[in-house]
Amino acid sequence: MNNWPKGIVVGGATYAIEYAPYQDGLDTQGENSNLWGQVNYRKHLIRIWTGNNDTKQEPSECLDTLLHELLHIVFEQNPAMGKLLVNSDDAEVIITCLARTLTDTLVRNKVILLPAGEV
Ligand SMILES: [Zn+2]
Repeated sequence: MNNWPKGIVVGGATYAIEYAPYQDGLDTQGENSNLWGQVNYRKHLIRIWTGNNDTKQEPSECLDTLLHELLHIVFEQNPAMGKLLVNSDDAEVIITCLARTLTDTLVRNKVILLPAGEV
């Protein structure tokens, strides 16, 4: 993760970014089985799991995860957006679709050049 940012400013708030191979401290079964990132609003901390040998995330997948967590912060910082949604699951669907499409667009058009090699 040498070339990946260790921190980022989102809407004026500075968040640290940690990268780890495993989801330490989390139950990875059930609803967390597809969890590749997490944001802690109180600690201003974004955690990205890069995976291990069996489940290694590609750089584009880590970018997708990072954008996903950034979008969660955008929703957190703008509660009026959340009020437009019918239920809380809507935000997750919207964020997942936005992050996936933005990742593809930014990478495919070389707006973001991902570092070569492992994340
Ligand atoms: Zn999410």
